[in-house]
Amino acid sequence: MTAQLIDGKTIAAQVREEIAAKVAKRIAAGKIKPTLATVLVGDRVDSATYVASKQKACAELGMGSMSHNLPGEISQADLEKLIKSLNDDKTVHGILVQLPLPSHLNEERVLQLISVEKDVDGFSPINIGRLAQKGREPLFVPCTPFGCIYLLEKVGVKIEGANAVVLGRSNIVGMPAALLLIGKNATVTVCHSRTKDLPGVVKQADILIAAIGKAEFVRGDWIKPGAAVIDVGINSKPDATKKSGYRLVGDVNFDEAKEAAGFITPVPGGVGPMTIAMLMRNTLRAAEIQDP
Ligand code: NAP
Repeated sequence: MTAQLIDGKTIAAQVREEIAAKVAKRIAAGKIKPTLATVLVGDRVDSATYVASKQKACAELGMGSMSHNLPGEISQADLEKLIKSLNDDKTVHGILVQLPLPSHLNEERVLQLISVEKDVDGFSPINIGRLAQKGREPLFVPCTPFGCIYLLEKVGVKIEGANAVVLGRSNIVGMPAALLLIGKNATVTVCHSRTKDLPGVVKQADILIAAIGKAEFVRGDWIKPGAAVIDVGINSKPDATKKSGYRLVGDVNFDEAKEAAGFITPVPGGVGPMTIAMLMRNTLRAAEIQDP
């Protein structure tokens, strides 16, 4: 292996420690716990697991959480009523609506309704709009892309002037990751399902962020020697040696890519732990903004 492994688990643990210390200091100063309200609609098992791990992280860091688990058939009006009440609730600092919502609900209208000061996922049009504009600062940056950039900076990868390629243009990962990289003066190419000659484009990348949701799609011979590879993908692959019958792999073929890359994140243990750490950081920031 030539690449240096970027250990997201250890880096996330350091971020969490820093947050826990700041939370304890706020509580010692008589302030209420930074508190995250999660909103889960329906019974998707993956969404319920993500929400549970976010609440567990709150507890571990001394923060508060409250959960709103709503039936899948809830109406748009009732969901909007809940969001408005959470906006007005002074004991709630951050609001997280777990996506995707059932298809009868209008996600855009729900996200738009979250008060910008409580938008700890960073998905409201105001926060994304600020991220996209030169010289403007969003109050919150979406957690997964924020974690990707944090990892690059933590291991000393130079972003300014680098050729960065982002695979995927989703609202939650690819697009905000590209905007963050542009803001840090990288030259950015965003690829998607209609991109021609993907291997040729990826080969130009000093920094590659892969977020397409296709198991081990990026091959080792696509990687520019020495590139920093951040693999956001979480895909399950059949594996008869595991009790569960599967294992998690990223969007990059790790075994091949590690022989060419300069830095690489593993899956699991790379970007995943950073996402929750950054959500906790955003929730603390929300409390600091609302109750300085
Ligand atoms: P998504 O909404 O499904 O978006 C996938 C993107 O990849 C789209 O822009 C799509 O292009 C593009 N794409 C799909 N197939 C492609 C191909 N063959 N060639 C080039 N581009 C292709 O996915 P997402 O929500 O961004 O998630 C991406 C992956 O990251 C998933 O594995 C997800 O589980 C993982 N994830 C991980 C974390 C974490 O915390 N680690 C957080 C969020 C997501 P079009 O736009 O043209 O359709």
